[in-house]
Amino acid sequence: MALSKEDIIRIVREEDIKFVRMQFADIFGQLKNVALTASQVEKAVNNQIMFDGSSVEGFVRIDESDQCLYPDRDTFTIFPWRAQFGKTARMICDVYNTDGSPFMGDPRNVLKRMTEKMKAMGYDTFNVGPECEFFLFKTDEHGNPTTETNDEAGYFDLGPLDHGETTRREICLNLEEMGFEIEASHHENAAGQHEIDFKYADALTAADNIMTFKLAVKLLAQKNGLHATFMPKPIFGVAGSGMHTNMSLFRDGKNVFYDPNDRRGLSKEAYSFIAGILAHVKGISAITNPLVNSYKRLVPGYEAPCYLAWSASNRSALIRIPAARGQSTRVELRSPDPSCNPYLAFAVCLAAGLDGIERGLTPPEEITENIYAMDDAARAARGIESLPDSLSSAIKELQKDQLLMDALGDHVSSYYIQGKKKEWYEYKTRVSSWEREKYITLY
Ligand code: ADP
Ligand code: GLU
Ligand code: MG
Ligand code: MG
Repeated sequence: MALSKEDIIRIVREEDIKFVRMQFADIFGQLKNVALTASQVEKAVNNQIMFDGSSVEGFVRIDESDQCLYPDRDTFTIFPWRAQFGKTARMICDVYNTDGSPFMGDPRNVLKRMTEKMKAMGYDTFNVGPECEFFLFKTDEHGNPTTETNDEAGYFDLGPLDHGETTRREICLNLEEMGFEIEASHHENAAGQHEIDFKYADALTAADNIMTFKLAVKLLAQKNGLHATFMPKPIFGVAGSGMHTNMSLFRDGKNVFYDPNDRRGLSKEAYSFIAGILAHVKGISAITNPLVNSYKRLVPGYEAPCYLAWSASNRSALIRIPAARGQSTRVELRSPDPSCNPYLAFAVCLAAGLDGIERGLTPPEEITENIYAMDDAARAARGIESLPDSLSSAIKELQKDQLLMDALGDHVSSYYIQGKKKEWYEYKTRVSSWEREKYITLY
């Protein structure tokens, strides 16, 4: 139920809330917040909180730095974890310019713009269900993260509960208190790796939920003396962490991807959506796999995709169609990782899927075999292309893809690409320990 301004002011008073955090995300998906004391809540709900945008990565130049926060009252929530100095609530905000126009560099705005386009095409809702994986690592005596885990469990293992699992349970309980519907939570493939799945929602809510989820996981891990990381591939030789993204379009409360008369139970729109994603996924990777490290996850052998293919069941494919039909009919994109900015990631996926629908694209043949097991020639014979193999090539693909560049808008695309090129340059000019070990005596 939507809360009015008065409701929020009353709740803050009645619940004796001491701080209200006004949250938003920068273009790289980092959570930012302006913490207010409760006395400022009236100003906050009246959109009167200003902040200095020039200190936020990818926002504005120093000479035009003032920006305003317009809280989305639907996101008002009280943090369930106990703070030292009284209760804290938060609201997720839209960023506006001082002249009252929405700020084009606000990732939330990018997603809202794409959702408007979807509505103009006759759909009501873009539903997204993310599956976020992460690692819990021990910390050292200074509280710094190590890569040591405190369990040796594997996928879905049952056994005596270890410290990691009790922490995961605590995370689930706290999220439920904040209104999350947790559908599943389990140990993942690698030691110390976990997954928590919450119920799908419209893309904006789902992206907001991911921001809240990451904050909760990090804080509660820290409270338990552990370090949680959403880094895509923290350890060589074991599985990385993905954020499989389940997607569907709804109209009048009905899933339009479902067609009981099709042999796979999929509608024409679902096929075209898949084709649209495949047509743009190389450029999409720059957003869904935003780190140098992201591309170390996208290698054969760890259930992470590397090749452009779709399948109804095959976990080596980039796009999988889970077996459920009816309202749960969905397209699962397996490439995204949890270091991405979810607002931008969902915006570019929606842009690509809608493009497929608009152009009436049909996907290539489904690939049912294990693609990891095919050699280059076998893949070439089937016309199976690869995902970009580095951040650098993904950025080049994004720059070539005008549809995605338009979806991001001039402000976000230029700041994003500039920032990522700098990150790539920092990486490529460093000499790694692998290089030294390999070459220093040989040459
Ligand atoms: P997997 O089989 O890959 O492990 P899960 O069952 O863990 O998949 O993931 C299910 C995710 O898909 C959940 O987040 C769920 O809410 C979401 N989901 C279910 N139905 C839909 C739908 N119609 N649209 C988008 N996401 C959906
Ligand atoms: N961890 C795998 C990945 O990197 C996914 C494992 C799974 O299918 O849940 O995408
Ligand atoms: Mg998983
Ligand atoms: Mg999955």
